[in-house]
Amino acid sequence: MYDYDVAIIGSGLGGLVCGAVLGMHGYKVGIFEKNRQIGGCLQTYARDKTVIDTGVHYIGGLGPGQNLNAIFKYIGILDKLKLKQMDVDGFDVIGFGDDSKPYKLAQGYTNFKKQLLADFPGEEQALDYYCNKIKEVCAKFPLYNLRTGDYSEKEDVLNIDTSSFLSSITENKKLQQVLAGNNLLYAGIADKTPFYIHALITNSFIESAWKCVDGGSQIAKLLGKKIHALGGEIHRNTKVVQIAGLETIEHLLLENGKKITAKYFISNLHPAQTVEMTESDQLRNAYRTRLQNLENTIGTFLLNIVLKKDTFHYLNYNYHHHETDDAWEGINYTKENWPLTYALFANAISKSEQFTDSLTIMTYMRYEDVGKWKDTFNTDSRPHERGADYEAFKKEKAERLLDVVEKKFPNIRSCIQSYYVATPLSYRDYQGSADGSMYGILKDHHNSFNTFISPRTRVPNLFLTGQNLNLHGILGVTISGLITCGEIIDLGALLEDITV
Ligand SMILES: Cc1cc2nc3c(=O)[nH]c(=O)nc-3n(C[C@H](O)[C@H](O)[C@H](O)COP(=O)(O)OP(=O)(O)OC[C@H]3O[C@@H](n4cnc5c(N)ncnc54)[C@H](O)[C@@H]3O)c2cc1C
Repeated sequence: MYDYDVAIIGSGLGGLVCGAVLGMHGYKVGIFEKNRQIGGCLQTYARDKTVIDTGVHYIGGLGPGQNLNAIFKYIGILDKLKLKQMDVDGFDVIGFGDDSKPYKLAQGYTNFKKQLLADFPGEEQALDYYCNKIKEVCAKFPLYNLRTGDYSEKEDVLNIDTSSFLSSITENKKLQQVLAGNNLLYAGIADKTPFYIHALITNSFIESAWKCVDGGSQIAKLLGKKIHALGGEIHRNTKVVQIAGLETIEHLLLENGKKITAKYFISNLHPAQTVEMTESDQLRNAYRTRLQNLENTIGTFLLNIVLKKDTFHYLNYNYHHHETDDAWEGINYTKENWPLTYALFANAISKSEQFTDSLTIMTYMRYEDVGKWKDTFNTDSRPHERGADYEAFKKEKAERLLDVVEKKFPNIRSCIQSYYVATPLSYRDYQGSADGSMYGILKDHHNSFNTFISPRTRVPNLFLTGQNLNLHGILGVTISGLITCGEIIDLGALLEDITV
């Protein structure tokens, strides 16, 4: 007899979605999470009685009739989420160094065009073409549209490059840059990031953009409750160290020495970590090497600011900034000119409509920038200081970031009560990735096929899920969760149930 029908490694959004959906189909689920808190990137933490998000600042597709709305409704968490719709006339505002004009990206395709036409009169044709192309590309992704289909549908759009496409639709350089202005959302790289990534993400926010009120961990908590209510178990502070078995997976070996048996196993980890932990020789060396050699997206430097009470007005939009006129340049920073870009998110709180109590400012940081401390490890359940020089490094970077932010938000320093910093090392240690990458495997239009990871492995009862499969983000990972469940239950029937 097995301990569980399905054992899941990791309680990131992918693991939790699989746990909830399979639990709803009568499977006994056990989830094993190395951290104290469930949720992976959905975790929040509190400082000075203020909730701070680690990896959810806004979510798309949650409006009535939209894809994520339908999935969360099906799972039974939609009506319990505390959400706030962002400014319909500009959920994202794009700004550039010397240009004092804010450019707004709006919700609803008609409104999206209308707002940009105010800044770019005469660009109607380009904007129509842009919007139609986004819709055309999104229509080719069956699961995104909650229907079954196959890879061939999307084949002909996978090699479109985002930066070249934007350059092709208009001569207006500023409009090209504005349309790429929130590319921090997918760590965009000129001549690399496929247009389908831009399209799937942009479309979800144009459809509707939402903040989680009082933090994104509510998604994980609601999913966790659902799993428990269905008889599933979530074991926190329980690290999996080996996925054992040769022909098929027989058990998970936990760090505490226990063995967990199950009929099916799902890994929510980065595929490179999964294959490293898997002993089965069913996984061929070529497959292992391919997964281990895939390039990951860059890491992040996150400045979380706790504000003095009632000093900073809540912004119902995000501000994406570029120091130069080139929205793709931020990722190519040097030691001297860092930071070249940032996104500023005001957190929505239930105790005030007018003010926010905290801000998150996000920019890029490469893993090698913190390489000096790579042999340290620090999480709340296993705290180890990384040292005074690391603290000094974080402070120096935080102040440099604030110097740049201050140019657009001149009073910001006077509103700060305290601030806390996360680097690629924080993400590495909490997520369990090798290099603290923000969004996992980097997608490249030159080689799109190679960066699609199947949920199926050659070991018949081992499956993968999470942001590395298809698309990162709350929407992307939730859909990947359904795809993984579709390896165990009937995907067509599941999608029908979701869309009724
Ligand atoms: C800074 C930042 C900002 C973001 N902002 C947004 C946003 O605004 N909107 C949006 O939609 N998306 C955003 N994202 C992306 C989104 O948060 C992620 O794509 C998504 O949450 C990833 O989910 P996942 O299931 O792939 O796994 P992860 O969140 O990576 O979770 C993996 C889990 O596995 C656990 N684990 C690892 N190793 C082991 C082991 N050996 N044993 C047991 N457990 C283990 C980890 O502890 C973790 O809980 C952001 C991401 C980052 C980094």
